[in-house]
Amino acid sequence: MHIQDTNTVTASIQSPSRHIVIFDTTLRDGEQSPGASMNLAEKMEIAEALVAMGVDVIEAGFPIASPGDFEAVREIARSVKGSTICGLARCRDADIDRAWEALKHAQRARIHVFLATSPIHREHKLKMSQDEVVEHAVACVKRARNYCPDIEYSPEDATRTEPDFLCRVVEATIAAGATTVNIPDTVGYATPSHMGEIIRTLRNRVPNIDKAVISIHCHNDLGMAVANSLTAVEAGAGQVECTINGLGERAGNCSLEEVVMALRTRNDYYHAGTRVQTQRLVPTSRLVSNITGIQVQRNKAIVGQNAFAHEAGIHQDGMLKHHTTYEIMRPVDVGFAISDLVLGKHSGRAALADRAKAMGYTLTREQVDTLFEQFKVLADKKKEIYDADIGALIEQQIHAISEKWTLESYKVTCGTGQVPEVELRLHRGGESSTVTMHCGDGPIDAIFLAIEKATGFTVVCKDFSVHSVTVGKDAQGEVLVQVEHDGQVYRGRAVSTDSVEASARAFLNAINRIAAVSAVV
Ligand SMILES: [Zn+2]
Repeated sequence: MHIQDTNTVTASIQSPSRHIVIFDTTLRDGEQSPGASMNLAEKMEIAEALVAMGVDVIEAGFPIASPGDFEAVREIARSVKGSTICGLARCRDADIDRAWEALKHAQRARIHVFLATSPIHREHKLKMSQDEVVEHAVACVKRARNYCPDIEYSPEDATRTEPDFLCRVVEATIAAGATTVNIPDTVGYATPSHMGEIIRTLRNRVPNIDKAVISIHCHNDLGMAVANSLTAVEAGAGQVECTINGLGERAGNCSLEEVVMALRTRNDYYHAGTRVQTQRLVPTSRLVSNITGIQVQRNKAIVGQNAFAHEAGIHQDGMLKHHTTYEIMRPVDVGFAISDLVLGKHSGRAALADRAKAMGYTLTREQVDTLFEQFKVLADKKKEIYDADIGALIEQQIHAISEKWTLESYKVTCGTGQVPEVELRLHRGGESSTVTMHCGDGPIDAIFLAIEKATGFTVVCKDFSVHSVTVGKDAQGEVLVQVEHDGQVYRGRAVSTDSVEASARAFLNAINRIAAVSAVV
């Protein structure tokens, strides 16, 4: 009854509107968030979820940055269909060639080149004059255009660039073949009215501006990334660059879910909309937070756990009489599950596969098989299995790829005022080895020290957290660790109904990530 009611309301307020291109950069700019680096399987999983959600353009990485980035862009370009796949390049021939090498098998490809234009960047970083910047940007857009028809150019630090010069660069790069010109607020410096002014200036003063889509790329340093993006749309921008959960370095990027829901909820004002299936917002947000280990704050707009919670009695009373009294959006519209279906021991493979799909995962047959086996083991330990349990099992499987060491068993003896005694058995390449130590401050510290000794990697533990995946005494404990090695941050994650075991496996997972990177270098 309620659902019927919303659909009618929604249909009547959604007037015919301008299409706003949603350009997701979770895998490129979002990944630059400390500790958010992802492996290939994780990136593929997110890319599939973005396609399923209806994102127009996926920026999959920066191919020349590392072999891992190149491989991720190439694999996503090869196998992920339905969205344009974009790769980033600096204004250098080698970058552009490498980007195309990674993108060439995509169904639809875009090369994104950037060159800074602000006086600070020109003088201190590039050591180039205005003329040289224009000349370089034009040459690079032309080179990229020889490879593919869809070219985006970004004047980095655009919001701190002199308006006259910004207009000149934009005009020249459009004339050279750029089909999208993106205005990055690289340092999160703009305010909404400032941003609106920049977009209006470009529309009024650049004679060939209608030959390209104006895009906006905002950072959240002053908490205005979403507001700035919306003002840009109002002033005529046709593309918004954003990330799931607003992931990104420092204070993050413009949050995809907030911009999409603002355009949808206030379609009466913006007369602009996106292709995003909004019911996929919450599952995709959870997927990204599970994969990166970066939790979403409870009061985060749209996807936070409390985003739709009404506590005040007067609100609850109003809500019961009619939901629109206090609710501008409905939880189901953004994908909060209508019911958290509980599975159990007798649930079949098909029910489990269905649930995983509804949660946003795209799994292969083999992955579903492995999941089902683990599900049965868990169902023996725990009566009711919730979505979060299934998510935890899947994440564990995706994370487990390329594990050099695995935990066979552990034994810790400890107590108050007693130095723990630990015996750890690890498995590596068909062989088992045992480490025995008398060390540490408590059982978890002892296990971490033993793992360091067994693997030969020494790390600094930056963060360690345990939380229960679901409710009840038999709930699985999820452990997240962040460790630092050689100046880089690595994440580890594991779940188990035994939280000491989960800690050991999470720590080992982080060590395996370091080992995987060390093997490449
Ligand atoms: Zn950025």
